[in-house]
Amino acid sequence: MKTLIVGNWKMHLNTHDASLLVKRLNDQIKTQRSVDVVLAPNMLVLQPISLEIDRRKFGLAAQNAYSVDEGAYTGEVSFTMLRDLVDYVIVGHSERRIYFNESNDVIRDKIQASVRNEISPILCVGETKQEKLQHETRRVIHDQVTTALANLTSEEIDKVVIAYEPVWAISTFQGEQAKPSDIEPIFELIRSIVSDLYGHQVAENLRLLYGGSVTSDTVSGYLKIRGCNGALVGGASINYKEFSGIVEQAYALKNKA
Ligand code: PEP
Repeated sequence: MKTLIVGNWKMHLNTHDASLLVKRLNDQIKTQRSVDVVLAPNMLVLQPISLEIDRRKFGLAAQNAYSVDEGAYTGEVSFTMLRDLVDYVIVGHSERRIYFNESNDVIRDKIQASVRNEISPILCVGETKQEKLQHETRRVIHDQVTTALANLTSEEIDKVVIAYEPVWAISTFQGEQAKPSDIEPIFELIRSIVSDLYGHQVAENLRLLYGGSVTSDTVSGYLKIRGCNGALVGGASINYKEFSGIVEQAYALKNKA
């Protein structure tokens, strides 16, 4: 399975600065077959960036979209509108769950809309610091995964990528470093939930990413976790040296294997 490295630019970079970053990434990152590199800029710059990137080198992702295809929903952009523009949409990021009150039910509808529009959703799941301290991690992950996938068939699940992002490890919040040994059992849990829902083979084929303060120094440790297929990178993805360093590490590991 190819490694997937996704750069979530969050609400950073205007059109000019985004274009500058793309030029630098284009210079630094070589086309490689073993790693998919995906950029997730803000909604406004998706279109201009799509014309500037080499699509053989970079995929594109939106950071959010609305689950209804069309209608009177002021301020929203639908998956239908994005379907010819992006390969992925990030769904259920913890910043959306926390700042915009996105519930598991809202996220389920977005996952369904994404798949309906033939876009791969990157479903983000993860426990908060408080949930971790109360030993609720496994229950939280179970609820998030089962609700989000509730309306999908086993063919549709093929398109879904899941990113485990412990909220306490995301730079926006506490930004603590998670130990790779803490992550592995949660990856196993996610695959076992998917296996219970859709069978062993579907679970084996599921692409699982790690996210939470990943940098070029720490990425290899996470990519070496059993069952890890890539990384969702936030803060470090808008620094071209850091992000191309992360991609380099991913190539190096893949080429060694
Ligand atoms: C993210 O935005 O998904 C993320 C993991 O952010 P950071 O790498 O900054 O922790």
